[in-house]
Amino acid sequence: MSPTSHSTFIAVEVDDSVRADAELAKKLEEACPVDIFTAAEDGVQVVHENLDECVLCGLCLDASPPGAVRVIKLYDDGALLERAA
Ligand code: SF4
Repeated sequence: MSPTSHSTFIAVEVDDSVRADAELAKKLEEACPVDIFTAAEDGVQVVHENLDECVLCGLCLDASPPGAVRVIKLYDDGALLERAA
C-alpha cells in the first residue's frame, strides 16, 4: 500500500466571514478550473472530492478578498499557497 496514492495533499478553507457571500461563491465557482468550489444556497461550499485535482493556479485567491480563501499545502508542512504578485 502506498501512503501517497489517493491521499489528499491539499486543503482549501473558506473564511467564516465570507462563507455566506453568494456573489463570492459564484466567482469562486467560475474561477476554479477543477470545480473545487460550488455556489450553494447558503454560500460557498468546498467540494472535498475534487481537492486532489487542485493545480495550485491561485485563481481562487485572485477572485477573493485577501485571507478569504486559504489553499493549504498539506504535503509541505501546511504552507499556504501565495497569491501571484
Ligand atoms: S488554486 Fe486553482 S485549482 Fe486550486 S482551488 Fe484555487 S482555483 Fe482551484
